[in-house]
Amino acid sequence: MNILVVGGAGYIGSFISRELIEKGYHVTVFDNLSLGHRAAVGRDISFVEGDLADRSALDALFRSRDFDGVMHFAAFSAVGESMVDPLAYYGNNVANTINLLRAMKEGRVNRFIFSSSAAVFGNPREVPITEDHPRDPINPYGEGKSIVERVMRDADMAYNLRYVSLRYFNAAGASPEGDMGEDHRNETHLIPLALKAILGEDAGGGTLRIFGDDYDTPDGTCIRDYIHVLDLADAHVLALEHLLKGGDSDIFNLGNGKGFSVAEVVKTAEKVAGKPVPAIKADRRAGDPPILVAGSDKIMEKLGWNPVFPQLEAIVETAWKWHASHPKGYAP
Ligand code: UDP
Repeated sequence: MNILVVGGAGYIGSFISRELIEKGYHVTVFDNLSLGHRAAVGRDISFVEGDLADRSALDALFRSRDFDGVMHFAAFSAVGESMVDPLAYYGNNVANTINLLRAMKEGRVNRFIFSSSAAVFGNPREVPITEDHPRDPINPYGEGKSIVERVMRDADMAYNLRYVSLRYFNAAGASPEGDMGEDHRNETHLIPLALKAILGEDAGGGTLRIFGDDYDTPDGTCIRDYIHVLDLADAHVLALEHLLKGGDSDIFNLGNGKGFSVAEVVKTAEKVAGKPVPAIKADRRAGDPPILVAGSDKIMEKLGWNPVFPQLEAIVETAWKWHASHPKGYAP
């Protein structure tokens, strides 16, 4: 089976590519390397450098190989940045995804796994958040993911394009061996920033800013549901198998069903590393809902997903192993 992984040189895409290889699939990664790393793509993977904005490159890619399915990770992923530059987010995360879907349609490939997000929900009306919770995004990142979910629904009705949309809560962690992990040029995510702050300037760290301590939560900081990247990878393979077996399009939330505040994450990072996180209080970050916690019963029941790293401490331990041994990420 040939699987195209778009954005397979990035954090989540590189883990999923490796998982697919381990499961016996042939993997082609298509990535423009604007944010990803060539070194994150294994030697047993075919690599094509290209951009989703380039429709002729996409057409050539689909002419060159028969793909049994497509997974798409080539998106911008920082909520705060999406508030500052919404057109970049709609351009890359919506318009370029439509380019990919059009190339799939023309290449007669009709199985698609999409990286959606908890950001489609906005400020939740109740937690844990189940799949049928209304979508009401409060930032352009979440709005873009929500638009693509609508586009996929319509493409399924019109062209039988079968899809699974996986709404990640907060992806985190690294390989337990410490050889693969998160390496964003402009890091914005909490766990890597807390660990880099411990490691100091050589690791690209500084003082961690805690964005808001006056939310309506027990300690005043935002609550999120962290999910290990390998558990995400498992969910993608299960979603692909579901479509390969002829399953219908579907949407699943993906988290551990347990929320941790920013202050609790900082405490966990300190416990794991055995050192304090240099941190200061800062203003709220625009676009942040106070609490996001997943209800993931549907994917457990329907696809048999069963997380291996449900504990925050275990997630942070793997991330620490990666950052401590790779303070410059994938750079030599
Ligand atoms: N956060 C923070 N300081 C940072 C980065 C993030 O306080 O330097 C907070 C952020 O406001 C949010 C939580 O940590 O409440 C998780 O943010 P992250 O960017 O990791 O993921 P998001 O929830 O935006 O996808």
